[in-house]
Amino acid sequence: MVRESSAVKKVPVRTIPVVNPATEETVGEIPDQSPADIARAVARARKAWDPWRKNPAHERARMLEEVARRIKDRARNLARLLTLEGGKPLRENVDEMGWSASCFEYYAGLIRGERGRVIPSIEPSQLNFVVHEPYGVIAAIVPWNYPILLMAWKLSPALAAGNTVVLKPAEQTPLSALEFRAIFDCLPRGVVEIVTGRGESAGEALVRHPDVSLVAFTGSLETGRRIARLCSDSVKKTHLELGGKDAFVVCEDSDLDVAAKAVAWAAFLNAGQVCTSTERVYVHSSVHEKFLERLAEFSRTLRVGDGLDPKTDVGPMIGDAYRRKVENHVAEAIKRGANVLCGGRRPKTHTRGYFYEPTILSNVDHSMAVMREETFGPVCPVMAYKTFDGALALVNDSPYGLGANLYTHDARKIKRFFEEVQAGTIWINDPLTDNDAGPFGGFKATGGGRELGEEGLREFQQAKHVHWDFEQQAKPWWYPYAPTAKNYDYGEPAKARAKK
Ligand code: NAD
Repeated sequence: MVRESSAVKKVPVRTIPVVNPATEETVGEIPDQSPADIARAVARARKAWDPWRKNPAHERARMLEEVARRIKDRARNLARLLTLEGGKPLRENVDEMGWSASCFEYYAGLIRGERGRVIPSIEPSQLNFVVHEPYGVIAAIVPWNYPILLMAWKLSPALAAGNTVVLKPAEQTPLSALEFRAIFDCLPRGVVEIVTGRGESAGEALVRHPDVSLVAFTGSLETGRRIARLCSDSVKKTHLELGGKDAFVVCEDSDLDVAAKAVAWAAFLNAGQVCTSTERVYVHSSVHEKFLERLAEFSRTLRVGDGLDPKTDVGPMIGDAYRRKVENHVAEAIKRGANVLCGGRRPKTHTRGYFYEPTILSNVDHSMAVMREETFGPVCPVMAYKTFDGALALVNDSPYGLGANLYTHDARKIKRFFEEVQAGTIWINDPLTDNDAGPFGGFKATGGGRELGEEGLREFQQAKHVHWDFEQQAKPWWYPYAPTAKNYDYGEPAKARAKK
């Protein structure tokens, strides 16, 4: 007789290496969690939901403020870890921690003053009001480019509204996110669960889980489409923040030195890996040549290097596949006639790391991928325009609609720009500034979700309308429909009917 071994067979945990994009060295590894692991995390979040939502709002606010305080206390270490795994210059990551803490504070403040609204009732004996209720368990899936900020933009309104959350960071930048397990331990167990793994396995298991009520996703258009399809069968609510191809219009009245520095920052910040990176620049033909000279001259001074070096302006890209996409866009543009004014190659000074030089292209047009598709790298194509009408048409000639920039003091142009451009954020004379109190999100294929502001809170709440009658009386419009003394036809007074 064969006897079963009493020893439990250990299934080896599959892991994913985390690589420093500046050195290509492995700096850590994370578990590639299985659907069963994800289901356990969802179950803990589901269990935590009822007590969490019943917590008075000021209690939830107090705990979110504690989260903000802990982020600020650990900002320097978190930022350093994020530079190691994500490559962004340390200075940008310290800023990211500051903005993340600020977002938790903003929603703590908002939820303290948040109330429903009393609306006019249709009968004297009724009170009618609207309350905003949480959904339940939220799946928050974020990319690697601003992993902590985008987590904060989802978690703080979701938690403030009374939801619990299962967070899945990107496989490239999970280490800084995992540090938040210690930060979130000031919240009741299960209110925030952090899971790790690949998008197509752990991510999809989370999206598909029946106890997840809403999927809040930031990432590429391709993955957004896939998630929307996965959620459509169960009519699960999605909140999608997808790609962009932001335009920057420079008018003839601009200070060209300032505009050139603004464009360089908006195009090369985080090595061009910002959803609102400037990826298309349109300059009035009368100043186009002068502007290009200044932009190229300034861009050549930017220092490419490891984000931990305080002299670095532009860090590495996140990975080789992303860099190859950039190289393909540049190569195709050159083949079709574009000129390279600076960059256009990997820096000779770095033999390791996924670096690419800040690149300025001229003589470009909308037949090129670099003007149509999201490049997501340090490439800035510049094109001349003759009329403002023409510039507006070029700005709107894109499947995306996240943000758009304008440099001018001409009030008529500014008014036309913010009224006619199909984008969720308009920046005039100051690119890419953030503000917790204003909604952020896109038009068209960027997805319709909004983060930040009151709109960001509403994304995680469902409205409920309460009709409350203080008297229990049968109503004249109920059955039976045949006229009686008490029950008369609509619009026909009982006296008029009696005369018939
Ligand atoms: P991505 O779509 O490849 O990955 C984003 C996240 O989704 C990661 O956590 C990944 O693991 C997960 N994922 C991947 N496939 C999945 C699946 N099938 N099911 C569930 N989860 C899955 O995007 P990326 O390359 O990491 O990020 C870059 C993109 O993000 C760019 O397109 C950029 O514009 C966009 N982005 C948009 C915003 C915005 O606010 N609109 C902000 C930042 C980045």
